[in-house]
Amino acid sequence: MAAPSRLISRLTLVTGGGSGIGRAVCQRFASEGASVVVADLSEASAIETLGSLSCDQRGQDHMASVVDVSSKESVENLVTSIQCRYFQPPSVCVNAAGITQDDFLLRMQEEHFDRVVQVNLKGSFLVTQAVARALVSCGAPKGSIITVGSIVGKVGNIGQANYASSKAGVEALSRTAAKELSRSGIRCNCVLPGFISTPMTEKVPEKVISKMTSLVPLGRMGEPHEVADVCAFLASDDSSYITGASIEVTGGLFIG
Ligand code: NAP
Repeated sequence: MAAPSRLISRLTLVTGGGSGIGRAVCQRFASEGASVVVADLSEASAIETLGSLSCDQRGQDHMASVVDVSSKESVENLVTSIQCRYFQPPSVCVNAAGITQDDFLLRMQEEHFDRVVQVNLKGSFLVTQAVARALVSCGAPKGSIITVGSIVGKVGNIGQANYASSKAGVEALSRTAAKELSRSGIRCNCVLPGFISTPMTEKVPEKVISKMTSLVPLGRMGEPHEVADVCAFLASDDSSYITGASIEVTGGLFIG
């Protein structure tokens, strides 16, 4: 079945667009008619995603850009470069950039705690703030900012004190942004994936993956496109009355 075309004429920004879930979001948005800015730390992977994007609608114009979401200067340069090229800020933004640096709490180094929080939480803050500021200052009538959190931000996870804390933080950030930005027509929501097959989970030992998969009611890991489907819904007007929400995409893991 062909994808719906809910994002025609929308300019969209996806951080972490060079890999995994971010790449699937870029592909889904492009297939729904959006112009996509693929932003990633790695220029090569952003360009690879760019090369995979469909361009069926007239006026679709994608670009790849390097960004370090943990750097205010880098994020501001990104938003400025988008406005220079398209003469508008992105009306849809997905914060998908993220990292893990796992270790048990008793062994976790301070630098690893700080780095994960800097990329996952502060990065989402910097991007959300820069995009929202640009939308408000140009008087855009609406926007949708989607942040990829994680189910472990709700339930915790062994070896992920830094990551789980950062993901709990992004949910609070998104809910607060939803309250503050609703008057400007900007909706802010989270998706909370469970275990999704991406380069990030390739690092997890097979034994742990099998144990986690056995706990998933749907009996398998998720695919990046299944998270992208929810992002496309939250980006589109089909979710026009949803803000401050978190949608779990977990195959039922940790229900209740
Ligand atoms: P992934 O394949 O590793 O993709 C993450 C992307 O973010 C990579 O392209 C990475 O670039 C980029 N990135 C890292 N640091 C960055 C920075 N400072 N600035 C800009 N880009 C940066 O992982 P994924 O599984 O798709 O994860 C996407 C999001 O989903 C993350 O926020 C993750 O926490 C979340 N999530 C994933 C799962 C899962 O099971 N996979 C579950 C819950 C939540 P490099 O490769 O160059 O570092």
